[in-house]
Amino acid sequence: MEMNNYTPTIGLEVHAELKTQTKMFCGCKNDPSEQHPNLNVCPVCLGHPGTLPTINKEAVKLVIRAGLAIGAKINPVTKFDRKNYFYPDLPKGYQISQYDQPLVLGGELAGVEITRIHLEEDAGKLLHGSNLPHNDNNHNNDESSYRHGQSSSYSLVDYNRTGVPLMELVTEPVIKSAAQAVAFAKEYQLLLRYIGVSDADLERGQMRFDANVSLSATDKLGTRSEIKNLNSFAALEAAVNYEIKRQAEVLDSGKEVHQETRGWDPVKLATKSQRSKEEAHDYRYFPEPDLPSFETKEFDIERLRAEMPELPEAKRRRFAREFGLSSAQADSLVADKSLADFFESAVSELATRDELSTSKIEKRPQELLYNYLTSDLAGLMNETGVPFGEIKINPEELAHLVDLIADGKIMSRQAKDILRKMFETGEDPETILEAEGLHTVSDEGELEGTVREVIAENPAAVADYKKGKAASLQFLIGKGMSKLKGKGNPGVLKQLFEKELS
Ligand code: ADP
Ligand code: MG
Ligand code: ZN
Repeated sequence: MEMNNYTPTIGLEVHAELKTQTKMFCGCKNDPSEQHPNLNVCPVCLGHPGTLPTINKEAVKLVIRAGLAIGAKINPVTKFDRKNYFYPDLPKGYQISQYDQPLVLGGELAGVEITRIHLEEDAGKLLHGSNLPHNDNNHNNDESSYRHGQSSSYSLVDYNRTGVPLMELVTEPVIKSAAQAVAFAKEYQLLLRYIGVSDADLERGQMRFDANVSLSATDKLGTRSEIKNLNSFAALEAAVNYEIKRQAEVLDSGKEVHQETRGWDPVKLATKSQRSKEEAHDYRYFPEPDLPSFETKEFDIERLRAEMPELPEAKRRRFAREFGLSSAQADSLVADKSLADFFESAVSELATRDELSTSKIEKRPQELLYNYLTSDLAGLMNETGVPFGEIKINPEELAHLVDLIADGKIMSRQAKDILRKMFETGEDPETILEAEGLHTVSDEGELEGTVREVIAENPAAVADYKKGKAASLQFLIGKGMSKLKGKGNPGVLKQLFEKELS
């Protein structure tokens, strides 16, 4: 019997809600945070007869922007089509989408080739339950109930999301593993945030995945199943892995994989069949009669290209090159744009040093800054839940703190205390240093006595150092520091020990 010698292939369809002021075809507010049901609605998005849609130009621009960011072709002529189907969250009875002339063709992201990106409108939300909610504020936005009516005694529908601009990206079938699918999805989320196209918040349903999975033992693609509506990275990864295993078992037992749509059950951690190819919808696509096709050159594509900010991949490479960071360090900064921005402003505030003085420093200031920002300051922010927009420390003050450490004026133990104070009070590090009497003793005359005492009390370490054991010097400096209650300047202490012991 054949055993598991299959190559998996995955193609993703990713939906993202666009960050526009208004909906796709009417003037209703596009407000994902609106809790009160059915507030942002009008006759157009409710699909009343006799109403006419108008195209939201901002939404078209955002999709073009996404296309430019992945190096795609912007289709010169594009149009909208009707996709007809019935569902209670779709009051018009059809969705305006794009079928054969999408806005964006081709492109590439994170090594994955893109087929297309098209623009459409979102549907509403259904809420299935067995106990009526007490009041509207308790309205449940649980996405897991989206289009999965389990047995329930009633269903509510909220049309606030109906007609919100939705962008669908489709990849080529070129992804080889669940991990690669997740890596791609994360990079796409980051890209959309960088270019301001979508907040792509998975918990709020602003980004959702369909994963197409097939296995093959030859160089021809196998029959795929499509897992619909995955709403977290964890679900995407688990569902693809489950499907790879399930299909391998089907093939190993000599049976065939059927083309079908499956759903992901986040409780049972399994995919289950929803409908087969034979039962597939016939959407009867036809060109939207109320909206003429249009030329994308109306949207000043060159200007949109010129306005493109630095993209995550370019920023990673630049951070590694300019600041001497490892690729993992650059990646962890770039993964959060406000963190990357804070780091970059702080770097520019570090004191300029000549090569000679830099060579005396144990850790480069830029690396110290990286450490203090991503572990100490981030730790305080985590602890208190205060985001970058609201912290009392500015990049310049953090750079000053790092300069004090780099110049040996304070030690890391003190630096951590000062940082906490800075975080709490917003004072600059020098002020705190003075007020707390934390200033260091740098005067050689004051330090020499301590250095001689330490040498006299630690003959073994002195002997080791003279035999060439560099770590013993650190030990001696540490001893001196504890005699000075942490207030000695470690740089000066080091020089004095070296002088005495040479
Ligand atoms: P549909 O509209 O029916 O979902 P598409 O041809 O548009 O069909 O394909 C949708 C997605 O399925 C794309 O991401 C594509 O890469 C992927 N796909 C197509 N064939 C396969 C296959 N054999 N294995 C895995 N993914 C596939
Ligand atoms: Mg599909
Ligand atoms: Zn409306």
